[in-house]
Amino acid sequence: MASQNEIPSNRSATLQSLSPSRASDFKRCPQLFKFSAIDRIPTEPTVYQARGTTAHLALEHLFGLPANERTPERLAELFATAWADAAPTEYPDLFPDSESEQTWLAESLEVLSNYFLVEDPTLIEPLARELDMTQAVGHMTIRGILDRMEETDEGLVITDYKTGKAPPERYAMSAFFALKIYALLIRIREGRTPDVLKLMYLTGPKVYTIPVTDAQLDAMQRQLEALWKAIERAIDTGTFPTRTGVLCDYCSYRDICPAFDQDTEGPSE
Ligand code: SF4
Repeated sequence: MASQNEIPSNRSATLQSLSPSRASDFKRCPQLFKFSAIDRIPTEPTVYQARGTTAHLALEHLFGLPANERTPERLAELFATAWADAAPTEYPDLFPDSESEQTWLAESLEVLSNYFLVEDPTLIEPLARELDMTQAVGHMTIRGILDRMEETDEGLVITDYKTGKAPPERYAMSAFFALKIYALLIRIREGRTPDVLKLMYLTGPKVYTIPVTDAQLDAMQRQLEALWKAIERAIDTGTFPTRTGVLCDYCSYRDICPAFDQDTEGPSE
């Protein structure tokens, strides 16, 4: 019989760390978390993911240039180079033909050019870009990549780039979930609470910012601890309920999800 302190082997094998996106998956739908984090069922990359990953690389490299070279033309070149490097190995089957790839490339560059409408990169010297945030939080290990952090007149600002469209303002607070986690990790690692969280949506474009307080980060730590316990319980009991909603239409696992009758494609009775 296992002692009370012994971690069941299936749990220790699967929950070694948690990223904000996996935590968000579990909140949204435990079955989705199981498909992605436990079963690790690979999903086909999408044109939106390819755009996001490539834009993040281009923006990271932009800030590696001297300030006077951070121009729209250089950002477009950086995107094209990052795409040319990644496409053959990471996205070999993403496009059926070169015409659709060129259309995607043109749309991506248009989205990326919006970056210059929301800030002037010549005025920013980031303290960190694409920062590995693997960090112990109590008995948990939280991991992720923070896009950017810099010192400004408003204090310490951490930024998350998004290539998609911004949610309406009334739903924007929930989009700060990952950034609040990163702010907590910064507080633990640096001993300093960030002052501002910034979500930068390049489609639109639209920027949302919120101030950060220690009370918010304390609440986030409690939320993460509760989530971690809930995930441990789900793993121990093998119980991962489905939670259907509008986001099922965008779920990569819908075709194999038990919540849907795979013959009729409607929700199971
Ligand atoms: S299709 Fe919906 S219910 Fe099924 S795993 Fe995805 S989000 Fe969950």
